[in-house]
Amino acid sequence: MHVTCSICGGQTFESNRVLWPALIAEWGLAPNEVDYIDRQQGERCIACHGSLRHIALGNALRAALGTRQTVKDLVESQIEATILDVNGAEVISDVLAGLPNYTRGDYPEVDLQNLPYTDDSFDVILHSDTLEHVPNPLYGLRQCMRVLRPGGWLCYTVPMVVERLTRSRAGMPPSYHGDPSMGRADYIVHTEYGADAWTHLARAGFTEIGMHVVSYPAAHALMGRKPPA
Ligand SMILES: [Zn+2]
Repeated sequence: MHVTCSICGGQTFESNRVLWPALIAEWGLAPNEVDYIDRQQGERCIACHGSLRHIALGNALRAALGTRQTVKDLVESQIEATILDVNGAEVISDVLAGLPNYTRGDYPEVDLQNLPYTDDSFDVILHSDTLEHVPNPLYGLRQCMRVLRPGGWLCYTVPMVVERLTRSRAGMPPSYHGDPSMGRADYIVHTEYGADAWTHLARAGFTEIGMHVVSYPAAHALMGRKPPA
């Protein structure tokens, strides 16, 4: 695998294990699935600490903005695009905060199912490993559609098990990303995404849909475009 970091241009990476036994059991992951999801979340650029999923998100972002610059270089050049970042994506958010028209909104003040912004407000919306925690992900995606400008792009990641289909956890025992003893209801997983993750974008009304693959099957980002006016 050869990966160049979309955030800083770095080319060296380190690996960390991030999944834990209870989550692996709840999710029903096979050993190879544990390996690639650990890579998605735990393999990081040594220079900026972006994980493979953040690098995938960065690739989608620069495609949405029509450039091959790194995220750091985009900020250096002070682009004027209006960007909404819901819940943040670690180093990407730290870097993007240097842009003049960057808006960060975090749950619960900013809820994907009820975004507190006017219609047609943003050129790009980002979220990373958030949609699986939203009780009705289609509502969340339709809200993103509403506040995007015509022709604007939504870019996001979700943990995805590529050899199965998406399933709702409704009626199943609760499963959490993050420590459940902390009692953070927003960490409850409502949807376990699979190979058909893109169909939620289509059902929400996005008419151009794409994927950015950093390393199959470990790290991808989805993007959907609001129809141009
Ligand atoms: Zn980097």
